[in-house]
Amino acid sequence: MQLKFVTKNPEETELISAHIGARLKGGEVIELISDLGGGKTTFMRGLSRGAKSEDVVTSPTFTVSKVYITPTFEIHHFDFYRLPDPGLIAHELEDLVGDPAIVVAVEWAQDVQHILPDNKLSVRISAISDTEREVLIEGSAVIDYLFEGF
Ligand code: ADP
Ligand code: MG
Repeated sequence: MQLKFVTKNPEETELISAHIGARLKGGEVIELISDLGGGKTTFMRGLSRGAKSEDVVTSPTFTVSKVYITPTFEIHHFDFYRLPDPGLIAHELEDLVGDPAIVVAVEWAQDVQHILPDNKLSVRISAISDTEREVLIEGSAVIDYLFEGF
């Protein structure tokens, strides 16, 4: 399944991701792709809220990963941007992928592609202007339930 949106502000991007966040079951893996400042972390903010987490979502660039607790699973948010040694954290990521009680979301995942499963959700954000983004969301049939109700 594939869906494409154009959002006019961060709130609209968060609305889309909140819709998906509300449909997560646990065990999903999400790859976030965009240039710097594209809106990956903004997307995560809506996703976490949609999954009923009250934890604050910020860029994990300097901490590499952050955890947001929801009533039914944990969201582990990774950011591999300019990480000098991705191998170390990649190990941690590998242990989490496939755990049904954990949703894994990754920014700048090019160095850990081999760890991500085929049935991941891919979110590609392209800046059209300062405030407009094209948000392309793709996933295999296994995760079609995430696209319901749009
Ligand atoms: P990334 O994690 O991809 O580096 P962030 O989510 O941290 O990006 O930052 C995106 C920036 O772009 C934020 O300052 C946000 O307010 C701004 N922005 C402007 N318009 C949009 C939009 N339509 N969708 C998402 N973010 C937007
Ligand atoms: Mg970010």
